Amino acid sequence: MQTEILGINEKSLNLAKNIILSGRTVVFPTETVYGLGANAYDEFAVESIFNIKGRPNDNPLIAHVHKDYDISELVSYVPEYAKKLAKAFLPGPLTMVYKSRGTVCPAVSCGLDTLAIRIPSHNGAQSFLRKVGVPIAAPSANISKHVSPTSAEHVYNDLKGRVELILDGGSCSGGIESTVLDCTGDVPIILRSGLISREMIEDKIGVCRVHSPKAGERVLSPGMKYRHYTPDCATMLCADVEEALKAYEELTDKEYVYFMCEDGAARKLCGKNILNLGKTDIEIAANLYAKLREGEKKARLIIGILPEMRDGIMAGVINRFIKACGN
Ligand code: AMP
Ligand code: MG
Repeated sequence: MQTEILGINEKSLNLAKNIILSGRTVVFPTETVYGLGANAYDEFAVESIFNIKGRPNDNPLIAHVHKDYDISELVSYVPEYAKKLAKAFLPGPLTMVYKSRGTVCPAVSCGLDTLAIRIPSHNGAQSFLRKVGVPIAAPSANISKHVSPTSAEHVYNDLKGRVELILDGGSCSGGIESTVLDCTGDVPIILRSGLISREMIEDKIGVCRVHSPKAGERVLSPGMKYRHYTPDCATMLCADVEEALKAYEELTDKEYVYFMCEDGAARKLCGKNILNLGKTDIEIAANLYAKLREGEKKARLIIGILPEMRDGIMAGVINRFIKACGN
């Protein structure tokens, strides 16, 4: 299969609509990462997403809709706190999990009685979702377990020959995936941290829990139990520059060793190979996946040095950083 990359315009959107309504998949940009989308009402199309990515079939997908879509068609109950959060943060990188009406096909939620809904703010995503008119089931547009894609080129590298059309909306500004928030109970629970932080949610509605399952406990968000964001080279995780340098001194093949770290640490490592994530939390989030993909092309080993910032969106960044560089 030939894979086309097209800018977003009336012509490419019409083509995307034809492909989606014929039961096939289209890759589209969002403000977080690129998504591999299929019509959420079409069982066969949704199942093909799992095959294209090699995604485990118990890891549910998010249903994406445009900002004027009436989600009461899809879910049975939206609590008051969720309405407040939707008003504050949508369209944007917040996925909300509700009790499903069962109108989309069961493969979207992998048989769960809940449905995750996302309204992306990216203009290209909005145009695509409005054009197709149906909810679009989509995970990130990468081979399962590999680093999530934040550009059309990243998607092409993973999925060429497996998808017909990649809508190119440039580099994703957010860089890490949406926050997944369970809104089925009295208090919302963060199932996956992301660009809408616990602090931002608490600021709007007072209370928000974070799901952190202990060993052996049931994982509420099935995706969190799998290895993710793995670059195609060896990795090592270090807590700080000192630890990283100590490990580095013991290595022989230093030419192909890269340090992935925030700007402050990079300055202390001058002269070494660096994948610089930037200075601010927003920069670090936006650069993480692109730097992992850049690194895997030239490094035999990436030594990840954990950023010092831990609050707000850095909770989500650190979580991915550890999954990418840890074991
Ligand atoms: P991805 O689109 O690849 O970033 O993955 C979507 C994430 O949303 C995964 O972590 C899923 O486990 C989670 N998710 C999707 N639907 C549900 C749901 N109904 N309940 C809980 N988590 C969900
Ligand atoms: Mg993913």
